[in-house]
Amino acid sequence: MLTKVAIGALLYPQGALVAALALLMSVGLTLAEFGLIFRWLYPIERAERDLPASAREYLIARLGMVWDALAPIVAFGLGALMLDYLLSGRYRVAGVWGALSVSAMGLVALLSGLSVARRATPFPVRCLPVRAHLLEEAQRLGRELGVTVREIVVLDGARLRRADAFALSGGRIALTDYLLASLTEQQILAVIAHEVAHLAQRKRLVRLWALTLAGGVGVAVAVAPLAHQLPPWGLLVWLGLMAFGLTLPMQRLRRRHEREADAFAVSQYGVEALQSALRVIATLHRREPDHSSDAVHPSLAQRLQALQKFTR
Ligand SMILES: [Zn+2]
Repeated sequence: MLTKVAIGALLYPQGALVAALALLMSVGLTLAEFGLIFRWLYPIERAERDLPASAREYLIARLGMVWDALAPIVAFGLGALMLDYLLSGRYRVAGVWGALSVSAMGLVALLSGLSVARRATPFPVRCLPVRAHLLEEAQRLGRELGVTVREIVVLDGARLRRADAFALSGGRIALTDYLLASLTEQQILAVIAHEVAHLAQRKRLVRLWALTLAGGVGVAVAVAPLAHQLPPWGLLVWLGLMAFGLTLPMQRLRRRHEREADAFAVSQYGVEALQSALRVIATLHRREPDHSSDAVHPSLAQRLQALQKFTR
C-alpha cells in the first residue's frame, strides 16, 4: 500500500486527474490482492472450521472489511484532489471531459464518505427477534451512560462462523446469531455492555474526528502555496505526516475506548462473565491468545490480563 501511495504522490505533479486515477487504481489493486489471498484462504478455513458459506459470500464479507479500512483514504484523497482540480481551473481546459471528471471524483468521494459515516451491517441481517429482556437490559445500560439504545439487530454469522458484536450508527447494536448461540446469558450481557459503552463513546470520537480534520484542513490551506513548490519527495513526506497526524490521535482514543468499554462491562456483570465470553469468542475464531483481531482491540492475553486487576 505504501509503495502505491508513493507512486500516487510522485504522479501528483502530472495533475490531480492522473493522481486521482492512480489512487483509484491502487485501491482496486489492493482489493484484488486481498481477493486473491482470501480466495486462497477460503478452502483452508472451510475445511478447518466447517464453513457453510460459499466462496462468494466469504469473499464479499472479507473484502467488505478491507473496504472499511480503505474508504476514508478514498474519501479524503479524492475529495482533496477534486478541490485542487476544480480550484486550479485546470478542468476548464479539458472541456466536457473536465466537468465530467470533476463530478465523477466528487461523487466517488461522497459515496466513500457516506459508507464511512453510515456504518452498514457487516453481515446480512437475520429477521430474528432478540429476547425482549436483552433489549430492556441494553436500554438500562444505555441510560446509565446517557445514550439511547434503539434496537438490537441479529446478523447472520452462522454461515461464516463469526461470533461478533458491533455498535452501529443510530443507537443500534448488532450481534451475530452464532454469538447468541455460543454464549451464556451472562456472557451475552457482558458483550452487550461493551457495545453500549462504544455507543456512548461515539460522540467523543466524532468530536475528535471533526477537530483533527479541521486542524488538518487548516494546516493544508496554510501551507498550500508552498506545497506546489515542493519536490515530489517533499510532497510525499508532507502527505505522510498529514496522514500520520490525522490517524494517530484517533487510534489512541479508540484503544482507550476499548479498555473503558471492558471496564464498564465488568462494572455491570463482573470479571468472570466478560473474561469467559472473550475466551469462548477467541476459541470460536481459532485466534491465538497473543494475536489481536484488528488494530484497535488488544489481544486476548492482554485483555484478560487487564481485566485481572478488577478481581482484586
Ligand atoms: Zn470494542
